[in-house]
Amino acid sequence: MTEPALCLDGVTKRYAGVAAARDLCLDAAPGELVTLIGPSGCGKSTTLRLVAGLDRPDEGRISIAGVVAANGRTWQPPEKRRVGLVFQEHALFPHLTVERNIAFGIDRLSRGDQRRRVGEVLELVRLGELAKRYPHELSGGEQQRVALARALAPRPAVVLLDEPFSSLDETLRAQVRAETVAALRETGTTALLVTHDQTEALSTGDRVVVMRRGVIEQADTPQAVFESPATRFVASFMGDADFLPAHVQNALLTCEIGVVSTVPGWAHADVDVDVVLRPHEVALTPEPDAAARVVEIEYHGAFVLHTVRLASGRTLRSWQTHAVRYPVGTAVAVSVVPGISPSLLVGDRAVTVPPA
Ligand code: ADP
Repeated sequence: MTEPALCLDGVTKRYAGVAAARDLCLDAAPGELVTLIGPSGCGKSTTLRLVAGLDRPDEGRISIAGVVAANGRTWQPPEKRRVGLVFQEHALFPHLTVERNIAFGIDRLSRGDQRRRVGEVLELVRLGELAKRYPHELSGGEQQRVALARALAPRPAVVLLDEPFSSLDETLRAQVRAETVAALRETGTTALLVTHDQTEALSTGDRVVVMRRGVIEQADTPQAVFESPATRFVASFMGDADFLPAHVQNALLTCEIGVVSTVPGWAHADVDVDVVLRPHEVALTPEPDAAARVVEIEYHGAFVLHTVRLASGRTLRSWQTHAVRYPVGTAVAVSVVPGISPSLLVGDRAVTVPPA
């Protein structure tokens, strides 16, 4: 098996006795792009700081490219670790040109090697023609690309990116994000990217790590995190989700709106669960005699989010295409779109096999 580029094993960090990161276990394979997401204060930046060596764990072990960076006995300072950092506020030296900024981290190389490497990474981020400019002569997106080039110049084993695109406006953000991912892929660099944007976490990560209160709730592929959330929190944090009390009997999942799906392997089950329904899985049909009512509509451009109150008083959300708008008060029959296998929860945890 190839050695992980990054390995966290039982890593805990406390501030004044309160755990900001608790028992973190995470491996990143060489070349893997891992996105780290969770509500503000959940420990994302703390995790990056621990890997970077800007903070020291109270417990656990951190290895980078097979070298122990921190454990109970060993402590490598940041400059000894093979990590590159890219922060939101670019942190370029204002008095140095682009090329001098990039050369800063590789000053132990000979002059010739420095020049070659600066040229390589500038080409990688397509900024060769701006080498002689100063940071204030660059756009926000260009500054961010210089920051990435500087982080990549020493050939780090892992690049850590802390909300690198959040200071950019939306159009520019998509473009700089695509360029950043392309540069990481091209160089086969392992990356840990912190974001608070669910779409960004899902679209850029090979793996998405969802944190809450200092704990990793789920670390999985984007598809698994969205389609098979491990907990109620992950289901509601990673996209819109509604929860309805439901029942599985004879492998059939039913809830207030009727039969939802079959649940293969649950033939002998007879259990109460909660079913997770996302707006794109909920279908509406106007029907004068139906008990459910549209209570809110919200135009999103490509789709229109309809909120429906069921007979029980619970609400469900449904995406309709942009041309469909059922006015508030419309009576609608509610069903699920055919072919879905929604997640089931017992308490706050997802279950895939019938509870014993
Ligand atoms: P996130 O990046 O997910 O927003 P942080 O990692 O910055 O969260 O913070 C996690 C928790 O640790 C928060 O409750 C925060 O207040 C606390 N914390 C972070 N850094 C320090 C510090 N230097 N001293 C005390 N508490 C801190």
